[in-house]
Amino acid sequence: MYDTRTAGASFRRRLLAWYGRSARDLPWRRTRDPYAVLVSEVMLQQTQVVRVLGAYSAFLRRFPTLRALGGASLGDVLREWSGLGYNRRARDLHRAARACPTGLPRTAAELDALPGVGAYTAGAVACFAHDDPVAFADTNIRRVLGRAFLGRTAAEREALELDAALMPRRDAARWHHALMDLGATICVARSPRCADCPIRASCRFRGGEDRPRRRQAPFVESDRYLRGAIVRALTLGPRTVAFLGTSLGDARVPRLVAALRTEGLIEQSEGRLRLPG
Ligand code: SF4
Repeated sequence: MYDTRTAGASFRRRLLAWYGRSARDLPWRRTRDPYAVLVSEVMLQQTQVVRVLGAYSAFLRRFPTLRALGGASLGDVLREWSGLGYNRRARDLHRAARACPTGLPRTAAELDALPGVGAYTAGAVACFAHDDPVAFADTNIRRVLGRAFLGRTAAEREALELDAALMPRRDAARWHHALMDLGATICVARSPRCADCPIRASCRFRGGEDRPRRRQAPFVESDRYLRGAIVRALTLGPRTVAFLGTSLGDARVPRLVAALRTEGLIEQSEGRLRLPG
């Protein structure tokens, strides 16, 4: 078991002092607008920070408010999202905007109840927009807290317990940003830079090994890549399934087109596929 009471104060002090010196300057950290925070959190869920940087600003220029997003067609939202992948995220963001045209709800519990907004995103928005002390854990937070207190990456439930026990009641946003930055820049998944780590003295993992990760198939061979390519092709105009199958040169196209239609991400009329109007 872990002891957060004894080690917690020192961990917090060292982590936050390091963050004061090393914080990443990211545009979504300069706003408390819950809508802008929600956009950034949804984009960051499965996309690297460097790719989100440009997309975030462009998306907010095109849809500067929740009302503007809710008033747009799903097709226009998907066109703007094109290139980020995981288009279901754009559909869910659009649904959430339409579900609350007068503004996002205030608390994590209310945010969690919105269509397509999960517990992680709800907690992150409540914390980063309102500084609510809500526990939540992405992969970086699970890795840092788990390695430091358990000697391995934590399961989600373990990370939430650790986060709730360790989080300062004030300035919870700064705390979570610090954990995320440490996980993204020092306590990385492979070859963590323990010699540069501010919490190395008390870390239970230092010098250890996480369970080896399963080898993933190359991205360009994945269904996810091909789904994105189908949506990208349709941003140029309506196409038939046969045309897409030939131009993308992949036998999975009909199956993935069917899945995208079921999910409401594309439509078919008069024998042609198109983005939703
Ligand atoms: S000492 Fe190493 S394993 Fe422990 S938190 Fe720091 S970087 Fe991660």
